[in-house]
Amino acid sequence: MKTIVIGGGLAGMAAAVALESAGLDVTLLEARRTLGGRAGSFEDPQTGEELDNCQHVLLGCCTNLIDFYRRVGSLDRIRFDRAIHFRDSTGRRFDLFGVLGLPAPLHLGPALLKFDALTWSERVELSRAMLEMISLGRRGRKRLTGVPFGQWLDEQQQSPPLVRKLYDTILIGALNEETRAASAEYAIQVFQDSLLSNSAGYVIGTPNCTLAELYRRIPCRDVRLSTRVASLKFDRDRVTGVRLATGETLAADAVVLATNHHAVRKFIPDDLLARDDRFANLDKIESVPILGVHLWFDRPVMIEPHAALIDGPLQWVFRKDESGTSLHGVISAARDWVDRPKDQMLALFERQVRQTLPAARDAKLERGLIVIEKRATFSPRPGVDRARPHQSPPPSGVSNLYLAGDYTQTGWPATMEGAVRSGYLAAGAIAGAGTGADKTFLIDDLPVQWPGRMLGLDD
Ligand SMILES: Cc1cc2nc3c(=O)[nH]c(=O)nc-3n(C[C@H](O)[C@H](O)[C@H](O)COP(=O)(O)OP(=O)(O)OC[C@H]3O[C@@H](n4cnc5c(N)ncnc54)[C@H](O)[C@@H]3O)c2cc1C
Repeated sequence: MKTIVIGGGLAGMAAAVALESAGLDVTLLEARRTLGGRAGSFEDPQTGEELDNCQHVLLGCCTNLIDFYRRVGSLDRIRFDRAIHFRDSTGRRFDLFGVLGLPAPLHLGPALLKFDALTWSERVELSRAMLEMISLGRRGRKRLTGVPFGQWLDEQQQSPPLVRKLYDTILIGALNEETRAASAEYAIQVFQDSLLSNSAGYVIGTPNCTLAELYRRIPCRDVRLSTRVASLKFDRDRVTGVRLATGETLAADAVVLATNHHAVRKFIPDDLLARDDRFANLDKIESVPILGVHLWFDRPVMIEPHAALIDGPLQWVFRKDESGTSLHGVISAARDWVDRPKDQMLALFERQVRQTLPAARDAKLERGLIVIEKRATFSPRPGVDRARPHQSPPPSGVSNLYLAGDYTQTGWPATMEGAVRSGYLAAGAIAGAGTGADKTFLIDDLPVQWPGRMLGLDD
């Protein structure tokens, strides 16, 4: 069976790698010169250096992404840190880390006791909310899909300073949405999966190379870069192949459309759009920008691999080289930053880095490069899941056209993990089609450890 995968982002790569591992004949088509899509790299026009569009971070709970990195031979390029380093605007550092050998969530107890970024009463408030998140379980969390997290925080009497210092610092980056506006389901998922279920869930992973480098050894024989698909060919309710921008056509028994959701509808003729409900609500999915800034100083300015910044405007900053001379800063949910003059933004970021990192106080910023992805990820607002389509076709839909992408139904917000899950789900549906047997490439979540199990977290 010949399968064509359109789009070499993480979703398309995951689908292609999984199908190839099952012995299927796969061709992966990517319009750009490199793989990775939004989790990819570009050539700096000024220096020719390969730079990431933005720093990408994973957590230990991203079991499918970790499996994908293993399959493409790049897991050893991911550096995992057992401490999350917070800094406030005066440069004070606060570390959140798990104690080895203790199960979740007890592993965080000792660090929380010393976590001076929060007052004692804020730590008590937070512990109450964490207990509530545990006892909600997974089913309880899903029932909150239509509730804004701000409402849930108010019900749990979480004070504004605690929200600013802890919830905002963790959630705005994880969800690319304002804390109070995000769906309570996804906000609570971040805490349940990364901090409360399993002591390996929170470890923070960053690549020690460019993103594009991670995918160079992808185990897929037929990968065609710089190959843009112009349209799909149909025979009634079946797709029979793709037409490339060059005019060439390629035949297929099944197609995985793994572009981002903005590009999907243009491939589908009107009569099929009307019959296949996966396409009905795509325009209701709102996109949210992310700002990334590359900063090069004239000397080492940062020792720790990352810092979660309690006071903005940059929310996270990452060390990009061994010496700590080049950094990358990130602002998520960056709606207010899209139209600002870049030199003003750079001056602000430079001032913030100087205030926050003591070693930067006398350093000179040699160069800064701001990259804004206007349609970075979809907003995980309450109700968004109603617009997210399944990977597999409905009975009346395009019978051999599968969707993959972070925007499809994955149970995850728009993340690399969600994109890989969607690719594995699409691949599983194709590999199992017509065999009567379920085929799954999905990797299990980390198991809920005994304290969480006792309190009902795995329900
Ligand atoms: C700035 C930024 C920061 C982020 N930070 C994080 C993070 O720290 N952690 C995290 O987990 N997630 C992060 N994300 C989210 C993550 O990058 C995405 O969720 C994920 O990469 C989406 O992958 P995808 O395959 O679904 O889509 P895409 O990456 O959009 O892939 C779609 C691919 O299809 C290709 N394509 C489109 N049209 C055609 C065509 N006609 N023919 C051939 N190819 C085509 C595109 O070129 C692209 O490569 C971030 C995203 C952005 C933008």
